[in-house]
Amino acid sequence: MASGDPVRRCVVCLSPLVGERFSRTSFCSERCRKIDLGRWLNEEYRIREEGDAGSGGFPEDAHPGQEE
Ligand SMILES: [Zn+2]
Repeated sequence: MASGDPVRRCVVCLSPLVGERFSRTSFCSERCRKIDLGRWLNEEYRIREEGDAGSGGFPEDAHPGQEE
């Protein structure tokens, strides 16, 4: 069924990822990787801005690993 497009593409700029060195990445270059990372951080920032405290993450006053 999936015989359409075997070429993976960079998730940022959609360049074809051809070759072994792309077998473990979804980005054509370090630059695109950073662009995608930046998008991620922006989204996360926006979600937190919209405000919900207490879903996921550690409470600020609990210091994990300092119990003893
Ligand atoms: Zn790219």
